[in-house]
Amino acid sequence: MTAPDTAARHAIVPCGACGKLNRVDVARADARATCGACQTALTLDAPVVLTDATFDTVVSRSTVPVMIDFYADWCGPCKMMAPVFADFARRQKGRVLVAKVDTDANPGVSARFGIRSIPTLTLMAGGKEVARQVGAVPMAMLERMVAGHA
Ligand SMILES: [Zn+2]
Repeated sequence: MTAPDTAARHAIVPCGACGKLNRVDVARADARATCGACQTALTLDAPVVLTDATFDTVVSRSTVPVMIDFYADWCGPCKMMAPVFADFARRQKGRVLVAKVDTDANPGVSARFGIRSIPTLTLMAGGKEVARQVGAVPMAMLERMVAGHA
């Protein structure tokens, strides 16, 4: 066991295969991080999937800001937004944890955040919402949202 580094920037990343929450040092995001339970590679090159069950833990325990895309599979503007958001995840790797919530599958967190229109993008920092945009937005707007927070 190594000594804790209080300055470390880390994100809580749900494993895409088994769902276990893993603590990942985002400064070493290019290194191969693997799930502590099933050894599946954890990638920050794409938005991570959050659910009603994992949302609060990930947002409150990640020390980097978390940008969340509330979306649904049937939503046209969400489909337009998806590749921009994926590109944003690659660009912000190591600075911001980029995540998405399927509003149909996760009504609890969606209701709590008052999501009425999708896509809705929210930026969480220190466990609190610090920015929100409704509707599909360009990369420049996403970058403006995280400026000063990441
Ligand atoms: Zn796993």
